Amino acid sequence: MSMARSKHLELIKTTKLYGDVKAVDAIDLTIDEGKYVCILGPSGCGKSSLLRMVAGHEVTSSGDIILANKNITDFPPTKRGTAMMFQNYALFPHLTVQDNIAFPLKMSGMEKAARYKQVDILLERVQLKSLHDRKPDQLSGGQQQRVALARAMITNPQILLLDEPLSALDPFLRTKIRAELKQLQRDLGISFLHVTHSQDEALALSDLVVVMNEGRIEQAATAKDVFNAPANEFVARFIGGHNIIETDNGKAAIRVDRVHLGRKSYASLPVSIQEIEFLGARVCIKVIDENGREFSVDMTDEMFFAHSFEIGASSFLSWEKEDVHQLAA
Ligand code: ADP
Ligand code: MG
Repeated sequence: MSMARSKHLELIKTTKLYGDVKAVDAIDLTIDEGKYVCILGPSGCGKSSLLRMVAGHEVTSSGDIILANKNITDFPPTKRGTAMMFQNYALFPHLTVQDNIAFPLKMSGMEKAARYKQVDILLERVQLKSLHDRKPDQLSGGQQQRVALARAMITNPQILLLDEPLSALDPFLRTKIRAELKQLQRDLGISFLHVTHSQDEALALSDLVVVMNEGRIEQAATAKDVFNAPANEFVARFIGGHNIIETDNGKAAIRVDRVHLGRKSYASLPVSIQEIEFLGARVCIKVIDENGREFSVDMTDEMFFAHSFEIGASSFLSWEKEDVHQLAA
C-alpha cells in the first residue's frame, strides 16, 4: 500500500445512538491525506458526535473508523493517532505555555529535556517562542488558540480534530485565526477535520465540505461544487445565496447574484421591491412576484445606483437558463 493512502480516514457506516436518538446515521466518508475538511450543518445534526467518535471520546455504536489503515474504532483516544482541539481550548491556567504544550508528552512519561526540545520546535512553528514562559491569562484569545493547537499537535497526530474552534472569537479575530488555521494545515501537511455551523467558514477553509443534516451526509464536495451545484434543496438553503424555484422537474436553485432586476425581456417576471439592504460593495434586494413568491437579488453597488431602485417600485426579474441548477428531489 502506498504512503499516500496510508493516512486516510475512512468512516464506514459509522453510527451513534443515544438511547433512541440516532445522532449519526450510518455515515460513509473517505478523507484523503493532507486535506482541510469541514463538517458543516445546523445545530444538533450530529457533527460533534461524529467528531467525538473519531477522537475516541464517544463509543461508536456501530460501523467502523479506519485511520492509516488501522481499524481504530475501539482504540482509546491516546492510541488512535488523532488529536482534538476543544472550543474553549481547555488550557491549564497554572501552567506556562511551554508546560501546557509539553503536557501530553509528560503524561506519556517522556523526560523533561526531551519534552522541551520537542516543544521548542513546535513553538517556533506556531510563532509562540517569545511567549513560552507566559500563563494562559497573559495571552490574547488568538495566542491561547495557538497554544491549544500546539498542544494538540505535540503528539504528532495523523489527523487534527477541531470542534467549532473559532466560535468563541469575535468576528475580526475569527477571520484572522481562520487564515492561520489554513496556513498551519498547509505547513503541517496533515488532515484537519473541522466541525462548524458557519457556511462562510466551511467555504473559506475546505478542500472538502461535508454537509450534514439529521445525522446523515447531504453532500460531500468541494466548496465550489457545494455552492454552485448543491445536491438538493436542503444544501441550497443551508449554504445560502440561492433562490429556490419550481420547475417542471421539481425544484431548482439559482444564485442570488445570477438573477437580474430591471431587465425587461419576453421571459421576465413582474415583481415589486420589498426590501433593500446595502452591504457596501454589494446590495441585496428582496422582491416579490404576483403570486407572492419571494426572491433575493444580489448586485454590485454600481448596478444598484445606476438603476435607482426603490422600495415599493415595480420591476422585472429575469435569469439565464444555464444559471438554473436542477436539484435532486
Ligand atoms: P451538533 O454538534 O451538530 O450540534 P451533536 O452531535 O451534539 O450535534 O448532537 C446530535 C444529536 O444527539 C442531538 O439531537 C443531541 O441532542 C443528541 N445528543 C448529543 N449528545 C448527547 C448525549 N450525550 N446524550 C444524549 N443525546 C445526545
Ligand atoms: Mg456540536
